[in-house]
Amino acid sequence: MRLGILGGTFNPIHYGHLRAAEEIREGLNLAKIIFIPSAYPPHKKEEVINPLKRFSMVNLAIKENPFFSVSDIELVREGKSYTIETIKYLIRKYDKKMEIFFILGIDAFLEIEAWKDYRTLFSITNFIVISRPGYEQRTMDNPFPPGVSHEFSYDPKKKRYFRKDGFDTYFQEITLLDISSRKIRRYVREGKSIKYLLPENVMEYIRTHKLYR
Ligand code: ATP
Ligand code: MG
Repeated sequence: MRLGILGGTFNPIHYGHLRAAEEIREGLNLAKIIFIPSAYPPHKKEEVINPLKRFSMVNLAIKENPFFSVSDIELVREGKSYTIETIKYLIRKYDKKMEIFFILGIDAFLEIEAWKDYRTLFSITNFIVISRPGYEQRTMDNPFPPGVSHEFSYDPKKKRYFRKDGFDTYFQEITLLDISSRKIRRYVREGKSIKYLLPENVMEYIRTHKLYR
């Protein structure tokens, strides 16, 4: 069985995240997707609201979908949220039963060199890199950072990059939705409507908790 992991700040979660998860689950035959909100993202400068509130919004957004779940592993762990630690934890928990696929947008992938132990990360898990408006998808030439590019070869039949150790990276085109949490935060601050950018119940949560004002 294949397990998809979608990490993020989810500040707040929106339809860009949800539609991406749905298309990837279906397209790559994943049994389920676990959303993992970060507690303290190491690379975010902007205001990131309380982790429990972001967690609650993810929970509201996914509750109708039986293939989606949310995990609090980064919330209960002390300190900054490093993906390498999360993946190692998930491998200990699931690896015998599940093949793990870490899902991220091309914007995040292009900055992966800044991630803690990113080279190790490529050697312990599969990746799915999804398209996002405004970011070129450099699939045909080698899209990996120089530190790991020599470790990957391309398999045109399966449209994936593979490594000798067996871990793959897929570049997946999905419906391009030009939605970002940053845009939603800005709209709220400016008193503009955020309707249809994210689920109604999340919108309601933002309103009742007076977030992002
Ligand atoms: P912010 O604007 O605060 O950075 P965001 O919308 O980018 O928020 P994140 O929580 O940073 O959301 O994203 C989590 C993951 O989801 C990242 O890997 C990101 O690339 C991906 N992602 C977010 N929005 C989209 C989208 N509209 N289409 C495709 N991928 C997305
Ligand atoms: Mg982002």
